[in-house]
Amino acid sequence: MRNSNEIWPMVEAHEGDFIALANQVFDTPEVAYTEAKSCAAHLAQLQATGARITQNLADIPTAVMGEWGQGGPVIAILGEYDALPALGQEPGIAEPRPLGYAGHGCGHNLLGSAAMLAAVALRDWLAATGKPGRVRYYGCPAEEGGAAKAFMVRAGLFADVDAAITWHPNDFTGIMPPRALANMRIDFTFHGRSAHAAGSPELGRSALDAVELMNVGVNYMREHMPDEARVHYAYLDAGGEAPNVVQSKATVRQLIRSPNNKGLRDLIGRVRKIGEGAALMTETRMEAKVVSAVSSMLSSPVLEAAMEAQILAIGAPEFDDADRTFAAAIQATLTEDHIADTFWRSGLEVVQGKVLADYVVKLADMPAAGFGSTDVADVSWAVPTVQAYVATAAIGTPFHSWQLTAQGKSPAAHKGMVHAAKIMAATARELMLRPDLLAEAKMEHTARLAREPYICPLDPEVMPPIP
Ligand SMILES: [Zn+2]
Repeated sequence: MRNSNEIWPMVEAHEGDFIALANQVFDTPEVAYTEAKSCAAHLAQLQATGARITQNLADIPTAVMGEWGQGGPVIAILGEYDALPALGQEPGIAEPRPLGYAGHGCGHNLLGSAAMLAAVALRDWLAATGKPGRVRYYGCPAEEGGAAKAFMVRAGLFADVDAAITWHPNDFTGIMPPRALANMRIDFTFHGRSAHAAGSPELGRSALDAVELMNVGVNYMREHMPDEARVHYAYLDAGGEAPNVVQSKATVRQLIRSPNNKGLRDLIGRVRKIGEGAALMTETRMEAKVVSAVSSMLSSPVLEAAMEAQILAIGAPEFDDADRTFAAAIQATLTEDHIADTFWRSGLEVVQGKVLADYVVKLADMPAAGFGSTDVADVSWAVPTVQAYVATAAIGTPFHSWQLTAQGKSPAAHKGMVHAAKIMAATARELMLRPDLLAEAKMEHTARLAREPYICPLDPEVMPPIP
């Protein structure tokens, strides 16, 4: 490979162990805060590499950290290993074969494994060069809907970290745009009074009516929100199955998103008022419980430039004909819109017949739209943070789909995973070698926080919803 970096072979030396780890986590899919087996597999791997280990981070049993090296700067590499409900799918097959349980529909089996692989390569590089410096692998649970990293930031776990690096599996390679919506999940439970719906309806006060009126109110609010704000909802409890009983209790979960933290706080205030209004109209009592919250993403232009240089040096993962054949079969299950969307997000025209991204997309070419939320964002307020995207799946594959799960153990996914580890390890090595870069990133971060201080979106009484 051209432009060879001394740390790439240090990644390759361990790739077998970490492909095995990714496969093991794929085979034990566990949803937010229940990742006991996945965390145990990561812990065992940390023990095998001689890390100094801290368990039960922020009082979360499935969060773990390992550290190597001495003195110097501290670089955090963030991993995840949670799965999604109901996305279990037989791997290696380009047709829906649901397994009836959770599955790795967001590729976090690859995410966590590559992050630890990068950290272990950095351990080897520090040992080989005798340089001062510490590298940490943070095994972070519950990215999907759980916001574990926000709780970890609140617990001060990044207080002595100089920079944080991570990645996400994707269908093209480049810097992940430093944009993410702040969000909060709030469960609104209404308490009414049951009654015979025909015999004495006047005695009943319907909690289900309150939920429906709340949704109507939120629908009217939608017209008057900032463009990029979002509110989604799910019925957690519609009050039961009997229409002839006035429902005495019902719960709706509102997921409120905004491109900035202040905008989120404003919107939450309005949604709460709508809930109070629904309770007033129905003579029910409303209870609001925050389930999770994350901040918007703070960019680190210095780190983004540093990581982009490493991505351009290594290029895109190299896929072979077998990878392309499977990717083509997956693509055949997608719509033209899915495929066009990937090219659009890459700032490119659609290339017919291209099934795997053999190109790198520059951050400057990506349009500033179409993004979700991540709890990495809270880390970005604690410490300069940068994320890569690396191609592990067919062009057009949506996140949170059976198609992504189906590709979670494929040779292309493993190639992308090892490639991601090389990008992260090379970026961390660069930061260890260039104290000026770290200092510049920190200055930029401090200046940004001076304009808008970080307010943890989780009030002190909100605890991780560990089952
Ligand atoms: Zn994800």
